[in-house]
Amino acid sequence: MEMHAELTPEQVAIKEAVAELCADFPDEYWRERDAKLEYPQEFVDALAEAGWLSVLIPEEYGGGGGTVADASIILEAINRSGGSGVPAHAQMYTMGTVLRHGSEEQKQRLLPRIASNDIRLQAFGVTEPDAGSDTTRIRTFAARDGDEYVVNGSKIWTSRFQHSDYMLLLCRTTRYEDVEKKTDGLSVLLVDLREAGDSIKFRQIRTMTSHETNELFFEDVRVPVSNRIGEEGKGFRYILSGMNVERILVASEVLGDGFWFVDRASAYARERVVFGRPIGMNQGVQFPLAQAYAQLHAASLVRWQAAALFDSGKQPGFEANSAKLLASQATWAAANAAMDTFGGYGVAEEFDIERKFREARLPLIAPVNNNLILAYIGHQVLGMPKSY
Ligand SMILES: Cc1cc2nc3c(=O)[nH]c(=O)nc-3n(C[C@H](O)[C@H](O)[C@H](O)COP(=O)(O)OP(=O)(O)OC[C@H]3O[C@@H](n4cnc5c(N)ncnc54)[C@H](O)[C@@H]3O)c2cc1C
Repeated sequence: MEMHAELTPEQVAIKEAVAELCADFPDEYWRERDAKLEYPQEFVDALAEAGWLSVLIPEEYGGGGGTVADASIILEAINRSGGSGVPAHAQMYTMGTVLRHGSEEQKQRLLPRIASNDIRLQAFGVTEPDAGSDTTRIRTFAARDGDEYVVNGSKIWTSRFQHSDYMLLLCRTTRYEDVEKKTDGLSVLLVDLREAGDSIKFRQIRTMTSHETNELFFEDVRVPVSNRIGEEGKGFRYILSGMNVERILVASEVLGDGFWFVDRASAYARERVVFGRPIGMNQGVQFPLAQAYAQLHAASLVRWQAAALFDSGKQPGFEANSAKLLASQATWAAANAAMDTFGGYGVAEEFDIERKFREARLPLIAPVNNNLILAYIGHQVLGMPKSY
């Protein structure tokens, strides 16, 4: 019944192929990973082998040469199937920093091996315990020692660290106190985690969703200068340029969840009979689902606009951030409407609503908190004074 007006026939084919792959990973598979807080390795392998994780790598480096819109379709389809793109999504876009700002030597060295799934670039270390959303306050420091940097410090919430061969690390090469502009003096290093070995210690953080994330401690980690991306001290700009893609792709998987809630809840509301009629006949049940569905479509259009702008070479900061804001809110509305529709069964693990409900809370907080998006729109777009 649903319209595909915004998708080309090729994109409809991508959506259907991903949905077919996901059919091999049914609800029970995700329920079990969730219960055991296990990483869905088989699913991530299947996605990589089918080439879906390298869609954004240009063909000349062995990737699919697709657009951000194509990648959005893939992630939305995964989450709409009841699964989760989160364990794999960074493999799609983290390489964008290397692609856009790395040297030709670095691209030749890394991208074909990421595309062929020989190496995984799944980890992205920005957030620190004492800096939080205020990224320029990070303190992890890379001191130059000949042809190497020696890194000391800590990171928190570094996801997929245990399932990655390399990590993109944002660190200071000039201290906050010594720069004129607080966004200066930050650099991006590509850390080979196998070489780093025990010089990076980690502690896994148990969370309410099956989201492998860690606190990291760096003790004299040696990184060759040849693994620095772009110029020293300009790393903040490089990281920011990748964030618009991250926002668009996160919005897409979040929308997949939102549509999943509406799909499941409307099906249940058509079938569940109480007081002699389907509960979906009651407007108290029907309207919140209809409302959430309309909100999801509105957020989806902003997401398509952001993707189209990015794919045409622009940096759509407002659109990408708005897509993540609106998608997370629409999906949270859908999650609550589904919870209400299922009544008591909503909290029973075997119906999967409670698992997805927990997952649907996170996008309001991460990868960027919605407050910070509103602050960005408030001061960058509307010209009001900054709160920080
Ligand atoms: C499961 C998970 C996975 C993650 N994965 C990664 C990862 O792989 N790599 C990585 O680098 N990071 C990761 N993060 C970190 C994530 O990006 C941060 O949690 C997020 O940016 C918010 O930072 P914080 O938790 O330190 O909150 P804080 O910055 O401490 O903020 C706390 C609250 O105060 C609000 N607040 C603070 N300042 C303002 C202000 N000026 N105006 C209005 N409100 C304000 C915030 O919006 C928030 O509600 C992950 C986080 C989670 C939970």
